[in-house]
Amino acid sequence: MNKVFPIITSLLFASLPSAVIAAESPIAIAIHGGAGTIQKSRFTPEKEKAYRAKLKEAVEAGYSVLEKGGSSIDAVTTSINILENSPFFNAGKGAVYTHNEIHEMDSSIMYGKNRQAGAVAGVKHIKNPINLARLVMEESIHVMLSGEGAEKFAKNKGVELVDNKIFNTEHRYKSLLKVKAKMKKAKLENKDHQAAHNSLDVEYKVGTVGAVALDIHGDITSGTSTGGMTAKRFGRIGDAPIIGAGTFADNNSCAVSATGHGEYFIRYNVAADICARVQYQGKTIEQAGNEVIHNVLMPVGGTGGVIIIDTKGNMSLPFNTKGMYRATKSNTTATYVGIFKDD
Ligand code: ASP
Repeated sequence: MNKVFPIITSLLFASLPSAVIAAESPIAIAIHGGAGTIQKSRFTPEKEKAYRAKLKEAVEAGYSVLEKGGSSIDAVTTSINILENSPFFNAGKGAVYTHNEIHEMDSSIMYGKNRQAGAVAGVKHIKNPINLARLVMEESIHVMLSGEGAEKFAKNKGVELVDNKIFNTEHRYKSLLKVKAKMKKAKLENKDHQAAHNSLDVEYKVGTVGAVALDIHGDITSGTSTGGMTAKRFGRIGDAPIIGAGTFADNNSCAVSATGHGEYFIRYNVAADICARVQYQGKTIEQAGNEVIHNVLMPVGGTGGVIIIDTKGNMSLPFNTKGMYRATKSNTTATYVGIFKDD
């Protein structure tokens, strides 16, 4: 009896127009714009409205790629480009400052169909680092390129190199000055950088952007892009460009993009750990995400969150901070936008 069903199903599908088959396949996308001390009291109604509108724009742009039959890779880069081009988020235009007052960005992308991946670390002159990470994945034999080598590769591929000053924003500079003053007061400057960082409020350590998507072909992709952490030492690389830490995707389990205190996400191999729990322990993405974010990271002081998607279109967005900028849309659910814990 059991054997009959697949045959009947395939006969049915064979006689259906492609649009109907398409409607049977789930499509979905989730995005984040960073996690941290994001409290309602710190927002004016106008500011909150503007953030929500940008998240909605980004998730819907990615979704519309999927709706037209586009790949999850295109959907992820489309959404991330919108967030990178906005000064609100810590990636691209809104990237934070390093301690020596420049911007160094990290990004990566991974395709769940074949576990292809690309990443760039410590780039200073790339307007949209996620696009360069994608180029590394699609047009190089390597997975990760850093600094000068990544930018030389970009130039060879016809990507425009931009002045680092285009990433300057007043609000990020003010944050840097605040952090430096705090470090000086604590006499931590030039001493123990790790201790200095530990003394900072979590809001200075987080704010990355990312997206995960499932396309009509059943393939998932994850991408992440960041300016890193305010006042980071130059040359510091976070979790965002590290496959397995800040980004991971495999059709056999799930796709994850992370945001949070990168050092912890690297040490606890967060994105890959979540997918391993799904694949080898049969956990749902919700169970696996909650376990890692709340039971593994929280007790050791690792703050942040992740967005997760699987090939059925299930999505989960756990975080252990006060808030996380986030949004989702699928063929069965309307656009959802959240900022605070109780959204
Ligand atoms: N994870 C990023 C980093 O450590 C920061 C963030 O998510 O805001 O570079």
